[in-house]
Amino acid sequence: MKLSFKKRIATYNLLAVAALMAIAFAAIYAVVYYTSYKHLDDDIITEKTEVFSNLDWDDNAIIMRKMPEWEEAEHKQIEVNPTFIQIVNLKGQALFKSANLQGNHLLFNPQNKTTAFYNAIINNQRIRQGQFPVFNDKGKIIGQLTIGVSQQESYNVLHNLLIVLLATYIFIISILYFIMIFVASKAIAPVDQLIQSASRINDANINSRLPLPENEDEIRQLAETINDLLNRLESSFYQQKQFTSDASHEMQTPLAGIKGIIEVLLRKPRTAERYEEKLREVLVQTNRLSQLHDQLLQLARLESTVMIAKKDKVHLTEIIKKYLNTHETLIKKQAIQIQSSVPLEAQVWADSILLEMIADNLISNAIKYNKMGGNIFIDWNPANRTLSITDEGIGIDSDQLLSLFNRFFRADDSRSSQIPGNGLGLSIAKRLCDVQSIGLSVRSTKNIGSTFLLQFPS
Ligand code: ADP
Repeated sequence: MKLSFKKRIATYNLLAVAALMAIAFAAIYAVVYYTSYKHLDDDIITEKTEVFSNLDWDDNAIIMRKMPEWEEAEHKQIEVNPTFIQIVNLKGQALFKSANLQGNHLLFNPQNKTTAFYNAIINNQRIRQGQFPVFNDKGKIIGQLTIGVSQQESYNVLHNLLIVLLATYIFIISILYFIMIFVASKAIAPVDQLIQSASRINDANINSRLPLPENEDEIRQLAETINDLLNRLESSFYQQKQFTSDASHEMQTPLAGIKGIIEVLLRKPRTAERYEEKLREVLVQTNRLSQLHDQLLQLARLESTVMIAKKDKVHLTEIIKKYLNTHETLIKKQAIQIQSSVPLEAQVWADSILLEMIADNLISNAIKYNKMGGNIFIDWNPANRTLSITDEGIGIDSDQLLSLFNRFFRADDSRSSQIPGNGLGLSIAKRLCDVQSIGLSVRSTKNIGSTFLLQFPS
């Protein structure tokens, strides 16, 4: 059964109220029922006391003294609140039957040993009966006295009460259902408004937010939570847009360079040396494009998959040695002195391939942004398990340090300089550190140098 939220709230509330009302009505009925039967039973007991006061016994025989009140109308007539009396002896012979019983007799249990009350029917009339054993002096049962009184009135009262209670119950429940639906729709009206406002938000108006309901309640909390989510979505949406525009902008420069060179060459025939020189320029731009392509691919892979980093025991000196071997030419070209104090026993738990990529980026930057003939110090602090790479290069403005790990970020000095780069390396390094829980931070002083710190988990 698919019920709307509004109808579900109304139904659950209604079921709770219906159950409580059923208990209350049942209690009312039970009290009236008990009271009316108690009243009849009291009447029977009064009558019994009167009858017993006129009875006597001689051994096993019951002797009745005829009393004037036995001639009362209630014992003679059937119509007006009759009281039926019947006395039987041990043999089951009727010793006395009130005149109003006429040819009938009251049903009774000959084995009965104590007072008993029950309902019966006589002459199509509902009666309440009380049966009392008659004892002689020795405490032996010598007969049974049965007294019946009309319970038609009580029955009518109870019957009418039942009908009134049932009708009231059904009436109240039906009215309540509509009231509950009305109240529930009032209660969830703010949710409807949220649904409508949320359904109007798309990528064209992603900066719109849901209106906050006035009441400080759960619905307001929900709206605030959705607004927070929209804030995050908006910022990642703009980051995505920014990324696409930055990526195309980065491609634009080498492509424009290549196009310009080719156009110049095609204008008129050139010497073989000139062609070679221009082709080398094209190669530089193509390498730039190719590096950008590789890094974009790397970034896309890093962001689209959940990366599981291996944990190997890695000797830091091996990573450094490997770097020095592969980048020998670059180091020599810049006349950089690399001074490593990392001891042979310095070991970390990391994914060696990812760690090589991180070290490659940080040391390459330390070379790239260093001064000609500058030093690079690589140190290991075993106390806090930190590897530091310090250069004596251009340094970074303190206000730009925070953006350093953003994709495509290049500090102003690097952007205006001839140093090649596209601002992707550090963001890739940061992501690679994150997946291995390695802390990556930077300290830098303008024109003095920068220190990049890798803090390994213990
Ligand atoms: P790229 O070097 O290709 O521009 P990175 O992501 O590696 O990209 O670096 C981002 C920016 O951070 C660089 O453009 C540069 O401005 C700054 N930077 C990185 N390393 C250093 C460094 N060792 N010294 C000075 N600036 C640096």
